[in-house]
Amino acid sequence: MTLPTDASSTPEVLRAQAVVDLGAIAHNIEHLRSMTTAEVLVVVKADAYGHGMVRVAAHARRMGIDWLGVALPEEALELREHADTGRVLAWLATPDQSSIDACVEQHVDLGISTPWALSHVIDAALKHGVTARIHLKIDTGLSRGGASAMDWTDLVDAAAQAQADGTVFVDGVWSHLVSGEDPNAEITDVQAQTFADALRVVQRAGLNPTWRHLGNSGAVLSGAARTRGFEHTMVRCGIATYGITPGRVLGEPNDLGLRPAMTLHARLAQVKQIPAGQGVSYGHQWIADRETTVGLVPLGYADGLPRTAVTPSVWIAGRRCAVLGRIAMDQCVVDVSGVDASAGTEVIVFGPGDRGEPTAEEWAEWAGTIGYEIVTRIGPRVPRRYVGEVGRG
Ligand SMILES: *Cc1c(COP(=O)(O)O)cnc(C)c1O
Repeated sequence: MTLPTDASSTPEVLRAQAVVDLGAIAHNIEHLRSMTTAEVLVVVKADAYGHGMVRVAAHARRMGIDWLGVALPEEALELREHADTGRVLAWLATPDQSSIDACVEQHVDLGISTPWALSHVIDAALKHGVTARIHLKIDTGLSRGGASAMDWTDLVDAAAQAQADGTVFVDGVWSHLVSGEDPNAEITDVQAQTFADALRVVQRAGLNPTWRHLGNSGAVLSGAARTRGFEHTMVRCGIATYGITPGRVLGEPNDLGLRPAMTLHARLAQVKQIPAGQGVSYGHQWIADRETTVGLVPLGYADGLPRTAVTPSVWIAGRRCAVLGRIAMDQCVVDVSGVDASAGTEVIVFGPGDRGEPTAEEWAEWAGTIGYEIVTRIGPRVPRRYVGEVGRG
């Protein structure tokens, strides 16, 4: 977990830092709100996809976001420790009574898929003398969490009984998409239909939960949630908040009206010449075919740069500079031949792309992954610095 820091109070970080533009996050949240009539729950799991959970959460609250979503109970409890008192949904509890107790005690809503989770929640509610708020989850095809269709009626009936007893309140019913980022995915219609059927079971049990949610960033940005009629009353948006495309099939962030929020900066640690014929980095995967000026970037795979990236580059002094050879744990070597670079020169590993610097999407392509993984894996050794907050630094 990255400690929240203020731009003003952070000493200039010479090695590296991830600058998070809260103005971009605000823009993206407003854009998502303009794309849907449903309530936008902002997903801040995994340290807000690497952007810093506590700061992003506080920023979203100031924008009037009522709902935050996290995977783990521990993430929700961390928000509470940082004085977040708003609605939080945590959807990935394991059979650990103490973390469920703490969530129920601290009014965290829990996503519930199984009889054991329901009984843990009921026990917690009895223990603390409160009514626990839950969102029942149906598996509509992802085969991850969620009750199977054949177990759904039993789960709903058990929850309805608990609601009648006063231990739980079913405030939501939800599911998660297989291919939300693909506007043409046929499975989405199947899932929307299965979800509608599941809602009818809930109604028949006498429950009428306010929050019914299936869509994610991709489903909102593609318009599928609206046009295919499964917007319901809430959508859960993560990646678009951070200005990263949910899938390149949908388009680049710019085409989608998003602004990437994270820029990963570093400073060169050393610059030197190597002769023609000399190899660079582990295994000498790259050999200089001429005299080359190399720059040492003090970021490596321990910081989240994907070691498997093919032909990656970074941005130095207005130019794209190729990464030479293997990315190591703490560092990598770049070609700065003909570039005005010396020790201390700024390196932009990725950013919004406005100046020609690589984007997280490009890194994802080089590494054969998705933008989600690039930003989420930027490690705890890289301090986060926040800019663009209205009325602050
Ligand atoms: C991560 C997650 C989301 C957010 O998805 P994005 O594609 O980032 O918008 C929504 N719901 C669940 C259950 C998730 O795990």
